[in-house]
Amino acid sequence: MKIKKVVVIGSGTMGSGIAAHLCNADVPVTLLDLTTEISEKARERIHKSRPPLLIDKTKIDKIKVGNINDDFDVVKDADWVVEAVVERIDIKHNIYEKIFKSRKAGAIVSSNTSSIPIKILSEKLSEDEKKDFCITHFFNPVRYMGLLEIVKNENNDLDKINSLKKFCEDELGKGAIVCNDTPGFLGNRIGVFAMQVAMTEAFRMKLSIEEADAVFGRPMGIPKTGVFGLYDLIGIDLMSDVLKSFIKELSQNDPFQEVAKEIPLITKLIESGYTGRKGKGGFYRMNKQNNQRILEAINLETGKYSPTKKIELGIETVNLNLLIDRKDKYGEYAWSVISKIIKYASSLVPGITDKFNDIDEAMRLGFNWAMGPFEMLKSIGVQKFFDRIDNFENNQFLEKLSKNKDENFYGERQKYTDIETLGKIKPKAIKVDKNKSADIYRFKDYNIVEFTTKACALDYDSMDALKNATDKPLIIINESMQFSAGVNLTYTMDFADKGDFKSIEKFIKYFQDTCKHLKYSKYPVISAPSGLVLGGGEEVAIQSNFVVAHTNIVMGLVETGVGLVPAGGGCKEVLWRWCQTEEAKSDPDFAPLKVFNIIGYATTATSTVEAETLKFLKPKDKKVMNRNSLFEISKKLIEENKNFKPPEECKFNLSGKPLKEKMIKTLEKLYNEKVIFDHGMEVGKELATVLSGGDTSIEKTLSEDDLYKLELDSFMKLIETKKTQDRIKHTLATGKPLVN
Ligand code: NAD
Repeated sequence: MKIKKVVVIGSGTMGSGIAAHLCNADVPVTLLDLTTEISEKARERIHKSRPPLLIDKTKIDKIKVGNINDDFDVVKDADWVVEAVVERIDIKHNIYEKIFKSRKAGAIVSSNTSSIPIKILSEKLSEDEKKDFCITHFFNPVRYMGLLEIVKNENNDLDKINSLKKFCEDELGKGAIVCNDTPGFLGNRIGVFAMQVAMTEAFRMKLSIEEADAVFGRPMGIPKTGVFGLYDLIGIDLMSDVLKSFIKELSQNDPFQEVAKEIPLITKLIESGYTGRKGKGGFYRMNKQNNQRILEAINLETGKYSPTKKIELGIETVNLNLLIDRKDKYGEYAWSVISKIIKYASSLVPGITDKFNDIDEAMRLGFNWAMGPFEMLKSIGVQKFFDRIDNFENNQFLEKLSKNKDENFYGERQKYTDIETLGKIKPKAIKVDKNKSADIYRFKDYNIVEFTTKACALDYDSMDALKNATDKPLIIINESMQFSAGVNLTYTMDFADKGDFKSIEKFIKYFQDTCKHLKYSKYPVISAPSGLVLGGGEEVAIQSNFVVAHTNIVMGLVETGVGLVPAGGGCKEVLWRWCQTEEAKSDPDFAPLKVFNIIGYATTATSTVEAETLKFLKPKDKKVMNRNSLFEISKKLIEENKNFKPPEECKFNLSGKPLKEKMIKTLEKLYNEKVIFDHGMEVGKELATVLSGGDTSIEKTLSEDDLYKLELDSFMKLIETKKTQDRIKHTLATGKPLVN
């Protein structure tokens, strides 16, 4: 069955998110609510949403809106009707009655409920209607969350469920996992339990919220919001409702009950409007003192706020064993939380699913964990886990594993999908090399490089790995969230602090050489970015021969923000692309001026569509909705390019001084308007030097090496200034730019 038209009923947070995402997939969609005014407002919200729910904002009008009384006829044409109204069973039942009276024969009807069992949702449906009814549980924000749980009932037409799953994978790019009808399904059952354990253990062990978030965060492969930060993000009041629903739905002896009990401090926070980021604050709050915004954290014992303290655990990347082996309160907390999560998740097999693998994948896709509970167990080691765990009665999974102690119990990854993912390939590939910043794999007759640093920040070793891997066709791809947030600024600042600018120059030169090498090496190089593709990360991607990009990438040359210019070939490459436009043919200054604006303002694209308008991506680059497919599509490109020939070198004719003066005029205007200050002016002037071609004239032809040289010279001038160093330090400390 083909899904060509969809109707979404309920235009709140989820309905609007689902409609926007269908629009992203070019599927005609109508959004209905009680009144057209409500659904129109929803469309406005979609348009203004940040991060944007739409990949291409110009398509907003493709989402049709209406109300459930006057416009219900659209249901007759729909192949799929998604109900996303308030979580009230009576309202949902009424809507189903109406839908099933109008829907076309065989059309799928699904609910986005997060807590009502399908048994109850479908209790008033006929056997025939039940065949086409299921739950499609999307996560918020729909465009960005990878997980979709599909819950079926015993009457379902399985072919139809499978074709819906395939549609959601191929067209909507979701990781669609089919699960049983149990409370909270997979993701929330484990995810919310994990949050509650992390929270209650922090109370019990008297950790501060910053300490708990530092442990239950990056070192555990969990997003840096940790538990208390995530509570604030979701909404403390909403979390309280979620817990009430779990308490009601789950049996009295479920360990969830123990960790879901009401906590007086939380009740007090909700009552006083401290519901999280959307309220006056939550566990964290922003306080203004002497015109300065200060982030404060609550003391779990006293309920008083004080400025947050940075907790340094000295663990940069995911490393469970380093964490649980610590002989301090952090090690104890980590073990307590991790072991409880593993115990609970494994106790639910086969009850909530007989595929433990699906639980892990649900945690990756729905909560952005780097590994799920069973991978955590694998990474700790089976023997070590059982040496340390106290008891595990009534846990079939652990009882069996404790007997066979099979360290290889895990088997394959990502069983829920037929796509040949990087996660599936890695265990089959040979790890040919590894350094502290990247791994090189060989699979069949090509190489794979995966960056392994925090946010995949790039340093000398990352470049070394890339260069060494070009002896075969190469795919640069990551399982972790970001392709690369750019050059490792801490690494660069360590040299600057010692006054060792020679080492910085050597690194940047090596970065340039590597990128040039990627572009012109004998074999094709493919970058398959997702997540952040910033600064140096973008330079690697755009100097690869092919790009296979996830549609949710955030891409930009953001170096000016830290007082630098892109110096790994970013200025050169984007300039070259703009030089190929029609406008550039009649006006030699068109391209440099355009790129001056793009890089000067550190413009970032929040999707492949935006990236293409900025020429960060080319029309021929692949734009892919399903992140899981990046590897498969890259591999296909290698197969299609057996007779690959490297591109011709680029040549530039730039106007030099008169062009630079035009750029400086723009800078002066911004300076007078106080948009930029003294150092902004200096950075702008260096960018102008690079993009105008330096000491050149329009008749003179410049090579790529000339442009690389200009980038390097300007970069070095800037990094040696105190004000650029101040900018870098500020960004490293706060994550925000310093305007100086
Ligand atoms: P919401 O309150 O933001 O929106 C609900 C919408 O339904 C409102 O616009 C309301 O006007 C509309 N509505 C109410 N009665 C209606 C009717 N009879 N006909 C048409 N529209 C009607 O709710 P939400 O957060 O979008 O949640 C929708 C569903 O998705 C719920 O079942 C919820 O459990 C589930 N869910 C929510 C989230 C989340 O994070 N918010 C996540 C997953 C699932």
